[in-house]
Amino acid sequence: ATFALRVTPINGVEFQGVLATFEDVSPMEDIGQMRRDFVANVSHELRTPLTALLGFIETLRGPAKDDARARDRFLGIMETEATRMNRLVHDLLSLSRVESEERIRPGQQIDVVAKVQSTAKALGPIAEDKGIAVQLFLPEEPIMISGDSDQLYQVFTNLIENAIKYGGSGGDVHVTVTRLERDPTVRGPAVRIDVRDHGQGIDPIHIPRLTERFYRVDSHRSREMGGTGLGLAIVKHIINRHRGRLKIESALGQGSTFTVTLPRN
Ligand code: ADP
Repeated sequence: ATFALRVTPINGVEFQGVLATFEDVSPMEDIGQMRRDFVANVSHELRTPLTALLGFIETLRGPAKDDARARDRFLGIMETEATRMNRLVHDLLSLSRVESEERIRPGQQIDVVAKVQSTAKALGPIAEDKGIAVQLFLPEEPIMISGDSDQLYQVFTNLIENAIKYGGSGGDVHVTVTRLERDPTVRGPAVRIDVRDHGQGIDPIHIPRLTERFYRVDSHRSREMGGTGLGLAIVKHIINRHRGRLKIESALGQGSTFTVTLPRN
């Protein structure tokens, strides 16, 4: 903890002097430190692809100028790097938008069942490429909540996409939607969405930090998969805005379950 010394002059009738108090300013320091870390992280994440791009431009101007095959290969790599930067900027903008809206209550009437269904359908081809399927276990009736349509789409997309990415070919991804009459974590009627994969799982020591910006268990692997390390941070903020909860359970070698609980109206 960090303490600031505050000196207040006192001019009473019977007493004149100063009052010295100590004030715990560690939370403010933490926020300052977090902001500095964030800026450093963003700069680092942007600089990596940028350095690669500049390097290839130089090579294309010089040694590889007349080599058509090298040119094609380098342009392919440059496209990958530029796409990575694009995705990062896109995720940073999403995060900033979500953060600024966190205190505004979302007011659209959303059917969670239909939303999960359409999200899973859109991700079907990505799962297919990996030789797995997204299996849905949905109730027949709609389940309505007050929410933000685009943001909920983003939550389900990020979780299902992660399950496909990190679940590998270990088995299908299971998405279950359950209507709850009363859930203690949101203190009332709720809807629960479980996204379960059968991948490598996550060592429990990492779980509390997964929703931090840029936190990755294996940064090389995440980058290979086109990840920015911001997906779960965005998910967490959106769920907070919806007054919901995110729970992560995982066992190494057995896969992971990400559970979102959202209050119903
Ligand atoms: P990324 O863009 O790296 O996927 P996320 O914020 O979505 O970033 O996830 C953070 C990290 O959490 C990932 O890099 C990965 O290490 C881990 N992770 C997320 N989902 C899963 C999952 N279903 N199985 C295993 N690890 C996961």
